[in-house]
Amino acid sequence: MSKGTAILRQQNEKRTLSLLRIRGTSSRQEIAKALGLSKNTISLIVDKFLKEGIVQEVGIDENGGVGRPRIRLRLVPESYKTIGLLVGSRQCQYVVTDYVSSVLEKGTLAMDFREPVQALEAIGRLCARLLALHPEALGVGVAVPGLVDPEQGLLRFATNLGWRNVRIRETLGSKLNVPVRVMNKVKASALAPAFEMPAGEAGSAFYVSIDEGVGGALLIHGQIYHGASWTAGEIGHICVDPDGPVCSCGQRGCLEALVRLPVLKERLLLAADGAGEDLPFPLVIDRHEGSAAVRETLRAAGEYVGAAITQVVNLFNPEHIVINSPLHRSDSFRQAVADTLAGRALSIPGETVKLHFIHNELLPAIGAGAAIILDFERE
Ligand SMILES: [Zn+2]
Repeated sequence: MSKGTAILRQQNEKRTLSLLRIRGTSSRQEIAKALGLSKNTISLIVDKFLKEGIVQEVGIDENGGVGRPRIRLRLVPESYKTIGLLVGSRQCQYVVTDYVSSVLEKGTLAMDFREPVQALEAIGRLCARLLALHPEALGVGVAVPGLVDPEQGLLRFATNLGWRNVRIRETLGSKLNVPVRVMNKVKASALAPAFEMPAGEAGSAFYVSIDEGVGGALLIHGQIYHGASWTAGEIGHICVDPDGPVCSCGQRGCLEALVRLPVLKERLLLAADGAGEDLPFPLVIDRHEGSAAVRETLRAAGEYVGAAITQVVNLFNPEHIVINSPLHRSDSFRQAVADTLAGRALSIPGETVKLHFIHNELLPAIGAGAAIILDFERE
């Protein structure tokens, strides 16, 4: 086989894997049609995958129509795995996932992360241990807060870690024998599968994270749009109230200054006469949503988020908006976001967009792992 033919064959194998990951099951005929390849080419690839145990035959398609019966094929998800990390200021959360991003193992490494050299040594030891346990892992995806240059795997700065210009990929990559990918945690989350969107598949989507801060990421054809200096998607700094409080960026009335969870918790407690100060944010909502004043505060937060999302919908016309936040449990919040969007967005993009509310704190780690899978399929 010539070098060119071998490369083409490998590309076709990766495209087949990608299709099976996204569709769940398929047949040789369907794969050939979807990829525009001959049935013979696909049969050779599938035979190789069957021999390697990467793909299984899972029955005959009864509705296959005329001609030869169509045998359903399915990926064996644990053939390939990936490791995803979320680095925080006091801990590092990790997941090991299979090829379709289902979590197989998860845990937390607690330590002081103020000193990057020591932190990366500890993370390196954790990864080495996980790679020894899961030799099928294709690589390590690292999600970090702050401004990241993903091409260099360089964390430019992260205020809450106190890190500046840390070469995470270089440092970890020199210790591990697998690819290492470093991403901003919000952008990493956007690559994780959510609802009907498999990883890296959504035509166009905007992901919003509301926790200690407010961030966003734009997905175009399943890929993150990073912008000229890696800051695209900063929905937290859209102004939603010109008379609002001053934001950490120096401007007034940014979405983040109004709805980031520590600020919102304070406002909810005030509305609830201070009861439940020690409760985590989700439980504050559960305990007090019966109160009209608390519901009004949540509704106001939903209106701010809806106003910011309206700008995104009008500018980019995305197919999906995914909001990852513990606020998802509040009916008042969800309704206010949806009503504001319906009332303010241009009619055509406003009617097209599908709004999803989720809450998954592991999404940045899962998404960082998914980035490794997407890289593997594009190699
Ligand atoms: Zn701001």
